[in-house]
Amino acid sequence: MQNFIRDIIEADLQSGKHASVVTRFPPEPNGHLHIGHAKAICVDFGLATVLAGRCHLRMDDTNPDAEDMEYVAAIQRDVRWLGFDWAEHLFFASDYYEQLYEHALHLIRIGKAYVCSLTEEEMREHRGSLTEPGTESVHRGRTVDENLELFTRMRKGDFAEGEHVLRAKCDMASPNMKLRDPAIYRIKRTPHYRTGNAWCIYPLYDYTHCLSDAFEGITHSICTLEFENNRDLYDWVLNQFEVSAEPSPGTIPCRPRQLEFARLNLSYTMMSKRKLLQLVQEKRVSGWDDPRLPTLAGMRRRGYTPEAIRAFCEMIGVAKNNSLVDVGKLEFCIRDDLNRRSPRVMCVLAPLEVQLDGFPEAGIEPLVVPSFPAELSLPGSRSVPIGSRIFIEQEDFSETPPPEWHRLSPGAVVRLRHAGLIRCEEILRDGTGSVTGLRCRWLGHDEANQAKAKGTIHWVCAETALDVEVRVYDRLFDVEVPESLEQLNPTSLAVLTHCKLEASAAGAECGASFQFERHGYYCADTDSRPGRLVFNRTVTLRDGWTRDDAKDRADTREAALARQEKQRAGAAMAARAPSAAGLEGVERTRAEAYVAAHGVSEAVAVVLAQHRQLGELFEQTVGAGASGKAAQVTANLIANELAGHLSDGPRALPFGGVELAELAGLVTQGTITHGVAKEVLGQLVTRGGRPGDLVAALGGEALSVSELGPLVAAVLAAHPDEVSRYRAGKNTLLGFFVGKLMRASRGKADAKAAEDLLRSRLG
Ligand code: ATP
Ligand code: MG
Repeated sequence: MQNFIRDIIEADLQSGKHASVVTRFPPEPNGHLHIGHAKAICVDFGLATVLAGRCHLRMDDTNPDAEDMEYVAAIQRDVRWLGFDWAEHLFFASDYYEQLYEHALHLIRIGKAYVCSLTEEEMREHRGSLTEPGTESVHRGRTVDENLELFTRMRKGDFAEGEHVLRAKCDMASPNMKLRDPAIYRIKRTPHYRTGNAWCIYPLYDYTHCLSDAFEGITHSICTLEFENNRDLYDWVLNQFEVSAEPSPGTIPCRPRQLEFARLNLSYTMMSKRKLLQLVQEKRVSGWDDPRLPTLAGMRRRGYTPEAIRAFCEMIGVAKNNSLVDVGKLEFCIRDDLNRRSPRVMCVLAPLEVQLDGFPEAGIEPLVVPSFPAELSLPGSRSVPIGSRIFIEQEDFSETPPPEWHRLSPGAVVRLRHAGLIRCEEILRDGTGSVTGLRCRWLGHDEANQAKAKGTIHWVCAETALDVEVRVYDRLFDVEVPESLEQLNPTSLAVLTHCKLEASAAGAECGASFQFERHGYYCADTDSRPGRLVFNRTVTLRDGWTRDDAKDRADTREAALARQEKQRAGAAMAARAPSAAGLEGVERTRAEAYVAAHGVSEAVAVVLAQHRQLGELFEQTVGAGASGKAAQVTANLIANELAGHLSDGPRALPFGGVELAELAGLVTQGTITHGVAKEVLGQLVTRGGRPGDLVAALGGEALSVSELGPLVAAVLAAHPDEVSRYRAGKNTLLGFFVGKLMRASRGKADAKAAEDLLRSRLG
C-alpha cells in the first residue's frame, strides 16, 4: 500500500529523523470495532509491518462512563482476527494516569495551566466564536501556588464534579477554537473499570493522547481527519516539554507527529459507536455480532473473512478527502475471496417436491462432484446423493413461463445440475388448486441425447436432504447515507426455515463457508445445533441489490427521468473518453473494482460497469474461475463483441460464465486465436453449446508455426510488388501482409506468431 502517509514515514526514515517507525492503534474501549476501525488498523499495523517497525495497541480509556473490560477483550480478539499482532505492546492510557498528573503539575509550574472555576455554561460563553475572539477567564491570573494547591486538592477529592477544571493556558484569541484554553482535567466521581476509585480527576483526550504517544515512543500518530483541528493542540502540549531520554515531569522521550487520513464511510450503514450501541440497546439487532452490523464481530459471524476485509482496505486506499465508499466494493472483495475457498453445495431455499418417474429403482452410479466444479485446480470432491424424489426451487418452475424461460415448465426439459435431464409431465395440486409438487420423467441415456435442455437447475435429494434454516440478510438501512434509526430497512432479515441442503454438508462446523450453487455464499452460524444447521447468507453471487431493489424502492417518475438523463449523459461521456471518473455511484465503484482486481482496461471496465448484464456476465466468468489474463480476455470479449449483440437491451443468453471462462482459457492457453474466440462467441450467442465442442466443430485450433509457414510463403508469392516495396524500406506494409495472412488462415493464425514469421521471411 503506497500512500501519502507511507511517503512521509519513508522520508523520515531516509533522512535519519527516526531509526524505525512506531505507530499505534488507539481505540476507546466503549464499543466494538467496526469496518472503519479495520481501515485504521490496516493503516497503523500495515505500515508498521511493511516498514519493519512496530505498532502498539493502546486502549484510550480516559472516560470512566462507558468503558468496559468486555470491550477490551473484544477489541483484542478482533484485531488478532484481522491478522495483526501487537506482540508485547498492549498499553492503556489509564496506566499513565500518574505520569500524566505529574506532567500536568509541570504545566502549572511553568505557568501553562491553571485551575478555572467557571461553570460549564460560563466557559461556553467565554469561548467566543469563529469570528469573535474568546474572553479570558477571571481565574486565568491565579498564581502558580494557588493552582498547585487547587489541583492537588482536586485530585484528593475535595471538590464536587464541575466545581473546577484544569485548563491549558494557550490563547483565547486563537483562530483555532481548540486552542482557546481547553480543559485538560475534569473531576468525575464515576469509578473507572481499571483504576476503580483511585482517581476522581480524569485527563481529557487532547492532553492524554499526545503525551501517551510520546511516553510510548510513537513516531507517527496516524488518525482520522476529524482530528485535523486538534493537531495544533497536540503540538502545543508536546512543545511544553523537553525531549530527553531522562524521565522527569518536564520531559518526554520523543516527539511524535500527527498525520490524518480520511475516515471510511460506507453506504447503507452506520458506523458511529453511539448509534451502534443504540441499535443494540434498543434490540433493533440481535447484539453486537448481529450479521447485519458493520462491526467486525458481526461481519465475522456473517462469514466475512479477514483476507477479504484487508483486501477491501487495500482497494479503497488512504487519502485525505472524505468520501462515501459503496458497500458493493466490500461485497466484491468478499465474493472474490470466498470464490476460492468455499466448496460448492446445492441448497433449495423454497422447496417444491418433484417425483422422478423412470428413475432406476436400483439407483444410479453415485454422483461424485468436484467441490469446485468450475475451478478444477482447487481440491476436493463430494458425493451427491440422488433418489426418485427431489426438491427443486419453487421459482425454478413456472406454469405459464415468460418467453425467454430457461427453467422448468410443463413439458419442458431441464438439466439437473451434476445429474441428468428431466421433463415435466404433471403438476400436482391440493384441494384449493395450489401446486404441491411435480411429476417429471427422468430421461434415460438415449432420450437424454435427443432432448434439448432449456437450462440447468439445482436440486436436492429428498430422502437424504438436511433440514436447515437460512438467514438471508439485506442492507441494514434503506438509504445510502442513513441519518436516523428510523431509516432501518424493515426487511433486512428474512428467516427461511424450510430449506433443504445437500447431505454432503452434514458435518459443517460453525463458521464453515459454502457456495450454495446459483444462490450465493453462506456460512454456518453459531446458532447451529446438532441436527439443525443454521446458515447466514454472507453475500449473493451477484450484485443484484442496487440494480433492482434500490430502484424499485426509491422509484418515482422524477427519479426515473433523472436517472435516464444521467445515463444519457454518462453514455455520451463514455463515448468521448471512457474513464471511470465519468461514472458515479455503484457504476464507478464497479468500474474501479474491475480495473483494480482484474487489471481490466479502464475503457472496457466502464462498458462493463454501465451495462449490468455485461458486468454480471463478467463477474460470473470470474466466479467460474477466469482470473488474470483470462479475466482480461473475457472482459475484452464481452465489451467489444458481446455488447453489440445486446445493443437492444438485456436478454437471456443460452450460455453463462462457465462457458466464457472455458473460452477465455482456450485463448490464454494459445489453443485458439482471438479471431476464433469471436466466432465461437457469436455461435454461443445464437445457439449455445460448449466452447470446446464449437472450436472442434469449426476446426478452429490455432495454427502452429509449421502450419503457418506454407501460408506465409503463399501470401508473399501472391504479392511480389508489395514484397519489393517492403524490402525497399516501406515497413508499414507489414500490417497489409498480416491481414492477408489472417484471411488466408481464416482467422486461425495467431496474430503475433504471424507477424514474427512474416518479419523474418521478409527479412
Ligand atoms: P466514535 O464513534 O465515538 O467517534 P471512534 O469510532 O472514533 O468513536 P475510537 O475508538 O476513538 O472510535 O477509534 C479508534 C481509532 O479508529 C481512531 O484512531 C479513529 O481515528 C479510527 N477510526 C474510527 N472510525 C474510523 C473510520 N470510520 N474510518 C477510519 N478510521 C476510523
Ligand atoms: Mg473517536
